[in-house]
Amino acid sequence: SELARGNILDLAVYRPGKPIEEVQRELGLTEVVKLASNENAVGASPEVIEVLKNAAYGVHYYPDGSGYRLRHALAKFYGIDPGQIHLGNGSNEIVQQISLAFLDPGDEAVMPVPSFPRYQPLARMMNAVPVEVPLADDTLDLEAMAARLNPRTKLVYICNPNNPTGTIVGREELDRFIGLVPRRCLVVLDEAYFEYVDNARYPDGLKYVADLPNVVVLRTFSKMYGLAGLRIGYAVARPEIVDCLERVREPFNVNSLAQEAAVAALADRRHVEAIRNLNREEKDYLYRELTRLGLPYVPTEANFILFDAGRDEKLVFQSLLRRGVIIRGGFGYPTRLRVTIGTRDQNRKFIKALEAFLKEE
Ligand code: PMP
Repeated sequence: SELARGNILDLAVYRPGKPIEEVQRELGLTEVVKLASNENAVGASPEVIEVLKNAAYGVHYYPDGSGYRLRHALAKFYGIDPGQIHLGNGSNEIVQQISLAFLDPGDEAVMPVPSFPRYQPLARMMNAVPVEVPLADDTLDLEAMAARLNPRTKLVYICNPNNPTGTIVGREELDRFIGLVPRRCLVVLDEAYFEYVDNARYPDGLKYVADLPNVVVLRTFSKMYGLAGLRIGYAVARPEIVDCLERVREPFNVNSLAQEAAVAALADRRHVEAIRNLNREEKDYLYRELTRLGLPYVPTEANFILFDAGRDEKLVFQSLLRRGVIIRGGFGYPTRLRVTIGTRDQNRKFIKALEAFLKEE
């Protein structure tokens, strides 16, 4: 419509796939395996499910707009102050709130590509300028990113581990990079996959928050905690930064079921440990199978693997879809796609479909 403001019509609509039941019906399949959005393949903790059943009796009340219990639970968990925590309707919403609170028209936002695809449109929405810096060796190119810092730079996004490559930047590199960022520029450390990382080089973003006034860490309950459908994530930063995010927040942005589920999910460390172990085992299974099929992959620190199918990625996607397995392409790589690490059963179906496709060729 011509009624739209500014450059709104230039923004692409985020179009996820059709509902899985619909895909299933269209393909005439009894089961479709979705390994496309880096969800937790096992599900939420059984204790969370119990809490949700009871929480349903309270849905006629507005949620606690301040997220008191969850912010206090997170503060205790990390040994920080509740005033350092901001809750969002998924960390997605916080990426938007960061744009709203910190980007003026003409400001620059430095970001890696490919990476989480929402940084760019949300910067453009504010008439800010996305400065996209290609990865080098499938890893964030912090040197190239540092070279793009200038007096107009207001935001820098570091996705660690990076989606869709699963690679990390190490502590020393990040120390050096953050040392180069002026204090008038906000560094966003997107740690959506923090809980999966099993690497001594991986820096804990909260350390930078403790040391610096211009760092914000994003984490989520969507991945390791299995609450993607409830939409809940959080930011950790100095209270002055949290205050800015609170000012642009809708009064009841995080619903009551999500808040209660997150408190319970955080408390169930056994479930987290089980998911972490499963992810480790299944990662090894997929590494072995991709190697057997002769397909290179990028070693990952997260719950997904970027691999090279050696064929047009759109063709691979369609062929797997017809066989009832949904993965994700469209990252700008001609032949590479991302698969979420699932359960053994799901991973087997993925490998079987991939193998059938390769043979058919
Ligand atoms: N950041 C990254 C790097 C992600 O991969 C995702 C989810 N795909 C998000 C943020 C958003 O997650 P959510 O809004 O579900 O918390």
